[in-house]
Amino acid sequence: MHVDVLIVGAGLSGVNAAYRLRTRTPRRTYAILEAREAIGGTWDQFRYPGIRSDSDMFTLGYPFRPWPNPQSIADGPSILGYVRDTAAMYGIDREIQFGHKVILAHWSTVDARWTVEAVHDGQPVTVTCSFLYLCSGYYSYDRGHVVDFPGQDSFTGRVVHPQFWPEDLDYTDKNIVVIGSGATAVTLVPAMADKAAHVTMVQRSPSYMVSRPQRDPLADKIRARLPAPLAHRAVRAKNLVLGTIFYQFLRRFPTRAAMKLQLGAAAALGGVVPLNPHFMPRYKPWDQRLCLVPDGDLFKALAGKQASIVTDHIETFTSDGLRLKSGRELPADIIITATGLRMIALGGITLSVDGRAIDPGQTTVYKGMMLSGVPNLAWCVGYANASWTLRADLTSRYVCRLLNHMDRKRFTTCTPSPQAAGSGRPILNLTSGYVARAAAFLPKQGTRRPWRSRQSYLVDHFDLSYSPVADGVMRFTRS
Ligand SMILES: Cc1cc2nc3c(=O)[nH]c(=O)nc-3n(C[C@H](O)[C@H](O)[C@H](O)COP(=O)(O)OP(=O)(O)OC[C@H]3O[C@@H](n4cnc5c(N)ncnc54)[C@H](O)[C@@H]3O)c2cc1C
Repeated sequence: MHVDVLIVGAGLSGVNAAYRLRTRTPRRTYAILEAREAIGGTWDQFRYPGIRSDSDMFTLGYPFRPWPNPQSIADGPSILGYVRDTAAMYGIDREIQFGHKVILAHWSTVDARWTVEAVHDGQPVTVTCSFLYLCSGYYSYDRGHVVDFPGQDSFTGRVVHPQFWPEDLDYTDKNIVVIGSGATAVTLVPAMADKAAHVTMVQRSPSYMVSRPQRDPLADKIRARLPAPLAHRAVRAKNLVLGTIFYQFLRRFPTRAAMKLQLGAAAALGGVVPLNPHFMPRYKPWDQRLCLVPDGDLFKALAGKQASIVTDHIETFTSDGLRLKSGRELPADIIITATGLRMIALGGITLSVDGRAIDPGQTTVYKGMMLSGVPNLAWCVGYANASWTLRADLTSRYVCRLLNHMDRKRFTTCTPSPQAAGSGRPILNLTSGYVARAAAFLPKQGTRRPWRSRQSYLVDHFDLSYSPVADGVMRFTRS
């Protein structure tokens, strides 16, 4: 099979990419290879109690399809339904080949095409394409980040990683310990507190948290007055602007911002749980992801004593729980290791260009999506500091612009210059453990445009929508 554009991945971004290709460069053929048996990526894979977005659905949803539900912070099944319905609505689901895991891709300059090798039912499958568009997300679907805690084998209860939630896990009246301080732990603790005997969140170091209403009253008013497409645009624009202002405030005035976040937490906790050390991180707001607490659910669970929080180091697992460095013992029937994701670059696909192996860690990202010296390939990576889809959609629209430019000028190949301006920092501007662990093998960003990733929708919107495609850095050739 040969297609003009091969999309890898049928998650939120892959469906978005297919929609943009269909509408902005409709004569082009495309196909989607998806390793799993389902649409939805993240929102199909993660099934733990309470799974939800931590950004609003007007910006996490697609700009072209209004978010239909009342909640602005939505549960995982509703998001999955939305992605699936969108794929069905535009006939994108018919273009997906499920159970096809892409392993290798070789570029031939002579043929101006990629030869992509996938595995389906244990058998190799080869597809060729002119442009390879990786909408493969940013983490491994095979393995989460697993910490090798001492004594883990001696624990007689069940250990669960949230990425692989067992359908049969009954935690009614059980003592639960959740290890972690990120978005997953913050979601799990209140969600499990209703049914469990008690839930204890054990964190080595705290995160910043902010409470926001799950349902946005202003969005409700706008939606009641305007037709759905217009209301979606208006609420999206509002959330984009307010989100940008809030992020800039947190980054530019870190001391005041940290105090504001901590005062918010203190008010919600009503003095039941001390702020120090549990809510006083040692880094500046947004050096690592800010955790969202919808309707203050975590604070309510902690204040109501169905849950508790412990800031300490784990010395060892014991037969019936954990022993901490402080000497404290935490009994547990179930331990949930919310220790994070294992980031991978480019869907874990091995790339080569004219027989030369590409080490993603040695490449620099051009406009946050293409790789220095690698022709006709883009990787769709969303924002870490705002809704993923905001950048994923800009990326897909830019890919369409690029392809249309190549059509007009009859170019067959586009390659960002192999000489990037400065290089060194990972593609994501976070100091979080999962980014630091992956730094060596993630593509880097440079120091100047178009090599620098700014993590700003307004800057990217202008750059990706209006700046010339032929910028002197992208090299175009005809075969
Ligand atoms: C628990 C959780 C909650 C999150 N909440 C938010 C949020 O609230 N807001 C936000 O902005 N972001 C959030 N994120 C980030 C989230 O991943 C993105 O929002 C978005 O879902 C990413 O979509 P995607 O399609 O790019 O990637 P994914 O959802 O990861 O989908 C990638 C798809 O590509 C497939 N694939 C990967 N490699 C290959 C291969 N080699 N061959 C074939 N197929 C392949 C995968 O099977 C998968 O279906 C969250 C992430 C997690 C894990």
